[in-house]
Amino acid sequence: MPTLAAGSRTALVIHGGAGVIDRNSLSADDERAVRADLDRALDAGHAVLAQGGSALDAVSAAVVVLEESPWFNAGKGAVFNAEGGHELDAAIMEGHTRRAGAVAGVRTVRNPIRLARAVMEHSPHVMLAAGGAEAFADTRPEIARVAPSWFDTPRRLQQLEQARQRERSGQAQAPGTYFGTVGAVALDAQGRIAAATSTGGMTNKRWGRVGDAPLIGAGTWADDRCGVSATGWGEFYIRAAVAHDVCARVAYRGDTLAAAMEEVVNRVVPALGGDGGAIALDREGNIAMPFNTSGMYRGWIRPDGSRGTAVFAE
Ligand code: ASP
Repeated sequence: MPTLAAGSRTALVIHGGAGVIDRNSLSADDERAVRADLDRALDAGHAVLAQGGSALDAVSAAVVVLEESPWFNAGKGAVFNAEGGHELDAAIMEGHTRRAGAVAGVRTVRNPIRLARAVMEHSPHVMLAAGGAEAFADTRPEIARVAPSWFDTPRRLQQLEQARQRERSGQAQAPGTYFGTVGAVALDAQGRIAAATSTGGMTNKRWGRVGDAPLIGAGTWADDRCGVSATGWGEFYIRAAVAHDVCARVAYRGDTLAAAMEEVVNRVVPALGGDGGAIALDREGNIAMPFNTSGMYRGWIRPDGSRGTAVFAE
């Protein structure tokens, strides 16, 4: 593929989840490791964009890197559900065509974002769940499968123990006690936008609980001017239709991306009792990354080439 002519404006923004990220419990070594994986995800997405590739390929590439990293709650390193297993959710959307694909509650798919994309490209449907999504994966030889225990990590097991303890002592779900959902939004040189989100959901979830991440318009959205990937307390993000609301404000009210994100993430969601963050970009390459938890793992490459990663509020 040719490399891009100078002046082509591409942009990429990623997240590795919002939540209670305690400065004292995140060691300097851990923070370095997390940020190194964010950088690798930025590199993977940017390599696609720099060669004139599509926003869709860029967000897929970035999210696969984050799914493979045990630091994030997606793919390897996903949180445990109440039965001590994992149920993974993911969605992907291409803005200019409004094509979308999503999966919920899959247990053996190594990279759920790849299955979401396969739903979009190789099925007549938008969203497949649980056993049906697994059966669809059986028809797609390119989708890598693993034993459910492959997703296990000691850190997530410890979080399950803590959640069970809280539950036994009758405490309600505390705000911000979700961690490490991943997502990416990209603008390619042709001005196309795509968004992708992947997650293990919330620790100790039960009854086939599905969060906002795989729901088009709640945790994931892209249209021809705006794309969003959210991370936060999913029940509230669903009820606020966060990702679609941000882009609707940009489209119908002419809000700037920054104003729309600020209003939805920092006012609409908290007014309902929820919390979290989100990442977004628009067709000019503006990027917004607000959150109202103690931290949100995030990274960005702006159209001028400047890039960075961050964990806490700057
Ligand atoms: N939004 C995700 C969910 O509710 C959790 C997260 O963002 O960490 O499943």
